[in-house]
Amino acid sequence: MKSLPRIEIAHLPTPIEEMPRLSAHLGGPRLLIKRDDQTGLAFGGNKTRKLEYLVAEALAQGARTLVTAGAVQSNHCRQTAAAAARLGLDCILVLVGNPQESPSGNYLLDLLLGAEVVWARSWETRHDDLQAAFEAAREQGRKPYFIPYGGSNATGAAGYAFAMQELVSQGVEADWVVFPSSSGGTQAGMVAGARLFGFEGRILGISVDEPESVLKERVARLATETARLLGEDVSFSADEIFVDAGYTGEGYGVMNARDREAVQLFARYEGLLVDPVYTGRAAGGMIDLIRKGFFSSHETVLFWHTGGTPALLASKYRHVLED
Ligand SMILES: *Cc1c(COP(=O)(O)O)cnc(C)c1O
Repeated sequence: MKSLPRIEIAHLPTPIEEMPRLSAHLGGPRLLIKRDDQTGLAFGGNKTRKLEYLVAEALAQGARTLVTAGAVQSNHCRQTAAAAARLGLDCILVLVGNPQESPSGNYLLDLLLGAEVVWARSWETRHDDLQAAFEAAREQGRKPYFIPYGGSNATGAAGYAFAMQELVSQGVEADWVVFPSSSGGTQAGMVAGARLFGFEGRILGISVDEPESVLKERVARLATETARLLGEDVSFSADEIFVDAGYTGEGYGVMNARDREAVQLFARYEGLLVDPVYTGRAAGGMIDLIRKGFFSSHETVLFWHTGGTPALLASKYRHVLED
């Protein structure tokens, strides 16, 4: 297997803990949690593992500015801004949202971390606006390095292939790994890593915002590219990817009653903070699947906490305490 250039910015390995009180409350299977909310970089999260490889590539190419994009409460943008600050690079974030919005949650942290925020004109024009911001930085001689949405290309996903190696080395036998899946890099890396490092459990992405077929295709393609980047000629097809798209509700970033219940149960039974956009939604899906008897009682389910907690403090999600 090939090794890739990497900078070490994450606190690894992240711990794995039991969730006995939540498991008992749900009358469910054994529940474990892997704490990638504790990767250490400015409140952490899954993007930090991806950035270890993306930023290494940027530095190898002589880049001086990281350019990426996301929603106003993007965890990916916040972790990219922090990585840039850590390495002495500039960071340009193209955000979709309201420029009048007062800073809170991740957006407040983006500004604190010194990122330059460029507002996309609209959701529809966001790709063009990102391209324009990148070209402008290039013309100004700022040596920009482009990081796709969610850091989800093969280089970024490699971080999750190696996360799977980490999980295997921690010696935990899990029948299922459950987590939120959106741009697909996390799941693709896990799927590639499971094959390369011999993880036997099933990897179930709870879709945050995408239809099942779209996400399965994306994950299969990206997992294939990731394995090839690592020098392994294997391929994956959509029908071997597990995605449950039954919990997307009213779409990205719109917290519903199920998401909210999950945030509250994790907090009140385990003292764990999951977020209103990603991990709350995946936790809500996992809880619903437990209640439906989807997992058998002798199985072990590992919830992979991908971070996102700063969004809990965004003013947009103040209603997280409601029933
Ligand atoms: C970005 C993100 C995800 C989704 O990861 P993808 O690789 O985009 O599928 C999940 N959870 C959190 C907290 C995130 O910020």
